[in-house]
Amino acid sequence: MLGGAGSGTVGCREATDPLPIPAVCPAMPETLPATKLPIYHQSLDWDRLYRDYPVPDVFAETVYKWPAARIRALQNERFLKVVSIGWQNPFYAKRWRAAGVEPGDIKSLDDIAKLPLYNSDDVKKDQLEHPPFGEFHDVDRDRLSASPFKLQTSGGTTGKPRTTLYTPQEWELNGLTLARGLYILGARPGDVMQIPATLALGNLGWCVYKGVHDYLGILPVTSGSGVVTPSRRQIELAFDYGTNLWCSFPEYMMRLVQACRDEVGRDFRDLNTKFILTFLGPDTQGSLRRELEDMTGCNVYDNYGTNEMGEGAFECPAKAGLHFQEDCMYFEVVDTETGRPVANGESGNLVVTVFHRAMPPIIRFNLRDLGRILHTDTCACGSNFRRMDHFLGRSDDMVKVRGVNVNPMACLTAIQSDPRTSGEWVCLVDTIERGGARRDEMTVQVELKQGVGAADGLKEKLENLLRGDLGLGVAVDLVPKGSLDELANIGREGKAKRLRDRRAAYKGKA
Ligand SMILES: [Zn+2]
Repeated sequence: MLGGAGSGTVGCREATDPLPIPAVCPAMPETLPATKLPIYHQSLDWDRLYRDYPVPDVFAETVYKWPAARIRALQNERFLKVVSIGWQNPFYAKRWRAAGVEPGDIKSLDDIAKLPLYNSDDVKKDQLEHPPFGEFHDVDRDRLSASPFKLQTSGGTTGKPRTTLYTPQEWELNGLTLARGLYILGARPGDVMQIPATLALGNLGWCVYKGVHDYLGILPVTSGSGVVTPSRRQIELAFDYGTNLWCSFPEYMMRLVQACRDEVGRDFRDLNTKFILTFLGPDTQGSLRRELEDMTGCNVYDNYGTNEMGEGAFECPAKAGLHFQEDCMYFEVVDTETGRPVANGESGNLVVTVFHRAMPPIIRFNLRDLGRILHTDTCACGSNFRRMDHFLGRSDDMVKVRGVNVNPMACLTAIQSDPRTSGEWVCLVDTIERGGARRDEMTVQVELKQGVGAADGLKEKLENLLRGDLGLGVAVDLVPKGSLDELANIGREGKAKRLRDRRAAYKGKA
């Protein structure tokens, strides 16, 4: 049961089935001394939490279906509250004052662009200057001792990962946001979800585990990544436990389907999977989704999130954009160069303000993930939550080559359009010297599928397609399967790296 009995709680259900544990143990005294420890389940006003942020089925019938104006009013109220928390936080207060903002200047959500943006470099710098958590978190050992805290970090594929702490409310919302998205997609109590992700410092595995376990009554099978549980074993576990939901990266799902066929001798479709929650990346043509759905025989859905926000946006069954979790956070899209908000439909950097976080507050965090708002009207699912396109790549992976801004993720459609490629690639940017003149050139190394030999005409075909998609002439270099594993971080934890800019090394030599 979610709340105290008979207290007129919101969104809580009455216990129907008595638990097979005696409620009163006669050998125990009726009263015990009060604890002085920061016990997790006494660290939150649970009724209030679920009234403010409804649990999945209540959410689906309330805020998710609210008219846009009512959502905006709620966002406005929550935004002003989080700004007042920001003024108490040294990291924000200093930055805001330096930008000429004073308390009282921000009167509504319409004023949000007056507040300066910050990005992960600012957080990393702050955490270096004020180790280990930075002024951003504003915690000392006393504060840490007063409440249970959880620590997660970003993937950290580039340099030192950034640390995020969670108080109980933030930790709950980390799982609750994900659970809401799964519920909208049809996940229900009694389902079994396999989570092939490591429950370590990265957030993904924890977020999914918590969401399904705490908020959906779904049995989590926390099998860990392929390093902990080999793919063959993952599939055996799935058949043994009746896994009917998965959350994993596309590359690993493909590997599992292959292991199912080649190592277990069964068809993945025999699992009768309800759906797979994954990260489709810039799959704007839907080719990656189609491939995965063909292989697995089930629906495949995209979602977007980070360790700071939990699940920020999710697809509904309409597969027509990812709904922002509008009552939990506010998303903006800003120009990658100027930082100014762009019009709906235009792509730019995603910027998030999280309403449910106070430790640390997240206010106008420039995620430097490319995105764009696709729809602001009512979706086929009945929700007015605005929808964004798939994640379109990292803007700090954008490179300027001979004056052209190139997004390495834009190679995806061309490369996946030909069945002779493995779908993997990496863009290499080098400074080439010819006859005394220097010129920056991009080579796209593309992996061939196992067993593909000559690949006649493929190089020329891809060079043509990529020239159109990137707006730049590039050379394609076809390489055997597996040869990009290290260079592009493929088949390992964390996102694949699609860009290696080697021009600095050249300048170093020059
Ligand atoms: Zn929808």
